[in-house]
Amino acid sequence: MTTQATAEATLPLEAALAAYDPALGLEVHVELNTATKMFCGCPTEFGAEPNTQVCPVCLGLPGALPVVNVKAVESAIRIGLVLNCQIARWCRFARKNYFYPDMPKNFQTSQYDEPIAFDGFLDVELDDGAVYRVQIERAHMEEDTGKSLHVGGSTGRIHGATHSLVDYNRAGIPLIEIVTKPMLGTGERAPEIARAYVATLRDLLKALDVSDVRMEQGSMRCDVNLSLTPKGADRLGTRTETKNVNSLRSVERAVRYEIGRQAAVLSSGGSVVQETRHWHEDTGVTTSGRVKSDADDYRYFPEPDLVPVAPTAELVEALRGTLPEPPVARRRRLQTSWGFSDLEMRDVVNAGLVELVEETVRAGASPAAARKWWSGEIARRANAAGQDVPTYAASLGVAPAHVVELEALVKRGRLNDSMARQVWDAVLAAEGTPTAVADARGLELVEDTGALASAVDAVIAANPEVAAKVRDGKVAAAGALIGQVMRELRGQADAAAARALILERLGQS
Ligand code: ZN
Ligand code: MN
Repeated sequence: MTTQATAEATLPLEAALAAYDPALGLEVHVELNTATKMFCGCPTEFGAEPNTQVCPVCLGLPGALPVVNVKAVESAIRIGLVLNCQIARWCRFARKNYFYPDMPKNFQTSQYDEPIAFDGFLDVELDDGAVYRVQIERAHMEEDTGKSLHVGGSTGRIHGATHSLVDYNRAGIPLIEIVTKPMLGTGERAPEIARAYVATLRDLLKALDVSDVRMEQGSMRCDVNLSLTPKGADRLGTRTETKNVNSLRSVERAVRYEIGRQAAVLSSGGSVVQETRHWHEDTGVTTSGRVKSDADDYRYFPEPDLVPVAPTAELVEALRGTLPEPPVARRRRLQTSWGFSDLEMRDVVNAGLVELVEETVRAGASPAAARKWWSGEIARRANAAGQDVPTYAASLGVAPAHVVELEALVKRGRLNDSMARQVWDAVLAAEGTPTAVADARGLELVEDTGALASAVDAVIAANPEVAAKVRDGKVAAAGALIGQVMRELRGQADAAAARALILERLGQS
């Protein structure tokens, strides 16, 4: 086994898709945000000391009996409803048997042929406004495993480690696994559709408030199934399953890479191995994991220690009443109220800024200012840090109130646009609130018209030729004079006021 990600041959996407049709399937695991675990009363908070949130049930000690978390079942039903699924009137848990050190019972309590929700769909809006309907096979309830920590190696992987530790805090946290049917006919848009589906699902689950859906913390995890079929053939090819692709960007890249890799294998006469593959964020490639057959024998059988789950029609209808507005409708409504163009709205959506802009507008900023400040410098930095803007902003302690304050400083005439940019950069560098930064740096537009007037007069006197041109009606030439006035006043002048005064002095107003 190697820890290095070695690149295999790949075909360019265009060549691959000229010969093959991709079939895409996505499995997403979501950790629910319930206060307690799926089958016991242990707390679920992230980041606690290892093995402090455990009990006989989630440690799988002999004789311990699980009890289903009602809140988790309700969340599962709400997820099923929002995915347009049928909700089972009666279903059971099943034991999925396999051995893994971070799974203390040696089986995962999951659902097999009786999922709580099945046969749904999710409409996904793409970058150009086209809508692709993703068919949902099922959404079922299960529990998370613990976490292994491999110590002594340089990579944190088991290879090269001297010993391993297990933290069972995560064992038993409620999970919902959402499985799509094979997505066909996606063609060259397969990578984009995969990304858009996961993004839409993430936003929907966030709006449902059932999970904190942090891909980087693992509370939402995505496995990418992909196979290729020669054009015109009528059955699906052999698929691979790329595990734990944990950012939106990686979902798109992993799909693109697997299409190119499988096409290279097939077009050179080889065959694709049915296996799980590992995604390497740094190199953007997948590498072979373990060979997996469809008939992996998990020896599923109904869980004898848990009663069946049989939600009444009344409960399902009551939960239906708690569903949020569908994402596409919500987006249209916000766009209208914010007055954004289609392109502006799409940029905000694609950057994951909808909630942040909404919050900032609610806090008192104009929609235009909220969009401008959250999608500029901070988006560039968040992208470089491999994070989404809301997460990145939270890590910096930068909040909607900062945007409101910055806009107020501009509106009050204390800062011009370039000064405001300078202040925002400093806010992002943790130098303080906009007002504190402006105070500390002495940033304030020169209000003293005397200072502005004497700077204008000095600049006109020093540039007689330019001044003459402006006098002759070449108003555009005034730009050079404005620039000099701004420099003279170290940028702290209002450029519009400087321009007006220059034109007035040169008889052009
Ligand atoms: Zn427990
Ligand atoms: Mn699962």
